[in-house]
Amino acid sequence: MRLHIGGHYWKYSEPRRISWDGEEIDGLCIEAPYREIRVIRRLKGQRKAEVQLHELCHAAHFSASEVWVTTFAGSATALCYLAGAGLAKHREQPSGADTIRRVLFHTLRISRTDLDNDQLLQDWADDLTRALGRLGWRHLAKK
Ligand SMILES: [Zn+2]
Repeated sequence: MRLHIGGHYWKYSEPRRISWDGEEIDGLCIEAPYREIRVIRRLKGQRKAEVQLHELCHAAHFSASEVWVTTFAGSATALCYLAGAGLAKHREQPSGADTIRRVLFHTLRISRTDLDNDQLLQDWADDLTRALGRLGWRHLAKK
């Protein structure tokens, strides 16, 4: 699948295993030899959603800091789930795009107060929301 993030196309795939420096990892975002995002196939639900958002944030270059990306992806995913949106089992479920976009906008806003540019943050949130929608993020049915 191709995802458009930060002005570039990225190849997205879900392989059975991902190794990096001899270690097994859950997700990967690389720019060379071509732009590529990988998320391990066996992950499910909120954990998979978090790894997807984490790798998308690397692709979008919101921050060069691994700590920032890890914290942002963990908290933004948790808040999306609290707001009733996330990675759905069925693509037919109604779009949660409006909820996802608002959660991402506000979490970006409180984590990047240095930018003081709501229009830029809204554009980033829109970009991420479109990519997450392609990956199957939806409004989640109540349990
Ligand atoms: Zn990372």
